[in-house]
Amino acid sequence: MSQTKFAYFEGEIRPIEEAKVSITCNTLHYGTGCFGGLRAYWNEEQEQLYAFRLADHYKRFLNSAKLLHCRLDYTVDQLIAITVQLLQREGWRENCYIRPIAYKDDGFYRVWLHEATDRVAITSQPVGAYIPVDKGASVCVSAWRRIDDTSIPARGKVNGTYVNSALAKSDAMLSGFDDTLLLNQDGHVAEGSAANFMMVRDGVVITPPLTSNVLEGITRRTLLELIREELMIEVAEREIDRSELYLCDEAFFCGTGAQVTPISTIDHRSVGNGDVGAITNQIRELYFRVVFGKEANYMHWLTPILQREAVYA
Ligand code: PMP
Repeated sequence: MSQTKFAYFEGEIRPIEEAKVSITCNTLHYGTGCFGGLRAYWNEEQEQLYAFRLADHYKRFLNSAKLLHCRLDYTVDQLIAITVQLLQREGWRENCYIRPIAYKDDGFYRVWLHEATDRVAITSQPVGAYIPVDKGASVCVSAWRRIDDTSIPARGKVNGTYVNSALAKSDAMLSGFDDTLLLNQDGHVAEGSAANFMMVRDGVVITPPLTSNVLEGITRRTLLELIREELMIEVAEREIDRSELYLCDEAFFCGTGAQVTPISTIDHRSVGNGDVGAITNQIRELYFRVVFGKEANYMHWLTPILQREAVYA
């Protein structure tokens, strides 16, 4: 059962029981909304909750809204302030997930975007691993293709697009895999059902470019910077063929939910020798140090949620 007690809903932080939308809500019928997915990490030593890259997540959220003709009366700074207040009210002292959503709340069944009433809600809840695998995920290439930018823009986090993700994920799980990789309409690797993809070949970290119908992932961007700047490992953003998946030395998913999830098999072929690779481990360790507030150079990506007086009171 959800432990969530509060929601930002219709302009205020309210008890979660009051945050209800109507059965006539346009987004419920047509998927005409967009959302975000953020994490905050509990640093036990510092007794502090750190939210990760709030400004970047909310910039993408407002961009997704723009794609859908949403008229949202919020700035990035306002959304950050609401999120801080909400997390303070919830008082989480553990890792948690934050979910903003913009939705069209009309009483009319109209398949359009431009004249609906747009609303924003934000909720949060404690969270563990999204793909709970320590040794590495077993993954298949999906028979479903990633939705194309000419159909629904993949770079926005559009609610309706997740039917594509859910079809791919469920079919993979029902066939015994942990997750799946979707190819784009050109037949190149796009991404996982809810995570970006990276692989290592001959010491180079390779990931599909943003024009391969992938979400403009904040974790992807974070890792590319950390891999280049801190680990001094070469990075290539280029198209990936399906057959390269079977020949790579290491592979992993990255995303707010997936964090850095190693992949051990793809279509029943082992990735490298099947163990979590050395570069993947290095990346994963550094990522967790950054998000938990243990890397002084990257504290600008973190927003401390708890006021110190409150923590030590
Ligand atoms: N691709 C898809 C389809 C996703 O749902 C997600 C999760 N938001 C990602 C990639 C990773 O994006 P981010 O790192 O911003 O969470």
